[in-house]
Amino acid sequence: MASQSSQPAPAAPHKPHVLIVEDDPAVSKLIKTYLEREGYDPAVVETVAGLRAAAEASKVDLVILDIGLPDEDGWSALRWLRARGNVPVIMLTGKSDTVDKVIGLELGADDYLAKPFDLRELLARMHSVQRRADQAQAVAGDAAKEQALTFAEWVLDLSSQQLKSEAGEPVHLTQAEYRILVLLAQNPRRVVTRDQLMDVMAGRDWEPFDRSIDVHISNLRRKLDTSPKAASLIRTVRGTGYMFIPDRGA
Ligand code: CA
Repeated sequence: MASQSSQPAPAAPHKPHVLIVEDDPAVSKLIKTYLEREGYDPAVVETVAGLRAAAEASKVDLVILDIGLPDEDGWSALRWLRARGNVPVIMLTGKSDTVDKVIGLELGADDYLAKPFDLRELLARMHSVQRRADQAQAVAGDAAKEQALTFAEWVLDLSSQQLKSEAGEPVHLTQAEYRILVLLAQNPRRVVTRDQLMDVMAGRDWEPFDRSIDVHISNLRRKLDTSPKAASLIRTVRGTGYMFIPDRGA
């Protein structure tokens, strides 16, 4: 039986790195202590120059940004952050700050908090902007997925024009095979006629037009249908063309 000491240490959970940009040490210390207790990894900088250096040195998950700073104002810091990416930003506003929320929103602040504020309110705002940022990232991820067609055990990457197995093993396709497969996979369970297949291949100088569609189809089947027992992904529709069935169970 393994002793307690031989157990691997559990992986430390990722602590979100929060940058607190605030020149009032009383305020920044209060926020930092509170966020540490709440499981964050906070760091304090007092100037916009400090923010730039810190953001360039390591990945920041969220920025708490005071508007009144000694070197430049928070707006120019916000503009700089937005030019580099989408890190969530919560602006802190003092009584003397003229806050134009419209300008702030155009510049891309995610939320505002007026001083003095309750630390629990700050935490609630942080959760809400982080949730929105995660959702935005998920949507961006979905858009990236549309650059690939997935069927049976295969992924056809449209940006690299590569066919890969689920395990990521690439399979070489000729240009003609690639074009035919894209047309078929984009039209699942529909008859694709021989004329349509000729159209995607015709007039190209990437391959001499010396092989019939049937030869390309038969090569594609050989590459795609790895098990002789499984039904082919490309079915022949007699006298008309072919039909792509993306799921072998169907
Ligand atoms: Ca200030």
